[in-house]
Amino acid sequence: MKRALITAGASGIGYAMGHAFEAAGYDVWITDVDRAALEACPSTWTCCAVDVSNEADMRRLFDEIAAVGGVDAVCANAGVAGPTAAVEDVDWADWQACINVTLGGVFLTAKFAAPLMKAAGAGAIIVTSSTAGVFGYPNRAPYAAAKWGVIGLMKTLAMELGPYGIRANAICPGAVEGPRMEGVLEREAQAKNMTRDEVYKGYASGTSMRTFVEARDIADMAVFLASTAAGRVSGQVISVDGHTENPDPKP
Ligand code: NAD
Repeated sequence: MKRALITAGASGIGYAMGHAFEAAGYDVWITDVDRAALEACPSTWTCCAVDVSNEADMRRLFDEIAAVGGVDAVCANAGVAGPTAAVEDVDWADWQACINVTLGGVFLTAKFAAPLMKAAGAGAIIVTSSTAGVFGYPNRAPYAAAKWGVIGLMKTLAMELGPYGIRANAICPGAVEGPRMEGVLEREAQAKNMTRDEVYKGYASGTSMRTFVEARDIADMAVFLASTAAGRVSGQVISVDGHTENPDPKP
């Protein structure tokens, strides 16, 4: 049976990825820091309370995965939103916290997945970036910097690991319906002195399709990128966002 590891799999996009990979026939392993959410996950999943930015815990997790035969697909999906603030108001500690998880967590995931995949001579690494990693994102300096970094890291992995039969690709979700975006909308509404609905409309109207996306849309793309149908797709940045035409629309 193929195995998939999904970081931040207990809710949101990662949770949808868990279901999509399970439906595609994978043995699903997830990490998360929310123990209550982990306990509510399907009993068929292997759920690990691991913070992606903790090197020792990540090493132990991959030792466990090695002991059961390795991993075919890794979704380095964990990322935190970080502060919504003008660049001069971003605290150094908040910058570091966002970079540590959102970029550092992807690095650690790839660092420990690579030897297992090299030994197998195959593997797919799928990193979750963002439209913020393509356009930038006003008032979200650490997040946008981390999401650009994730793409640079993915391109490097594709080049470095391609000779071993390992592929790496990035998915850039647009604004996804759900609790995370609700938090972003509320904070941005406060920062810009607007209503939540005005901010929502601004996000949706910045896309050609005038839409948010669903977590399932991202999960389906991840399963495709892990599949043999994408066997010659590597080093690519794929947006699943209803086509962002204006990353900073004014409603
Ligand atoms: P979310 O806020 O719903 O969080 C998903 C999970 O991440 C939570 O269960 C949380 O406990 C877990 N988590 C947080 N820190 C962690 C850590 N250090 N280690 C392990 N798990 C941790 O997030 P989401 O909306 O599902 O986003 C998933 C990914 O997609 C993130 O990288 C995010 O930046 C990216 N993304 C999201 C959107 C969106 O609109 N939701 C848009 C673009 C990109």
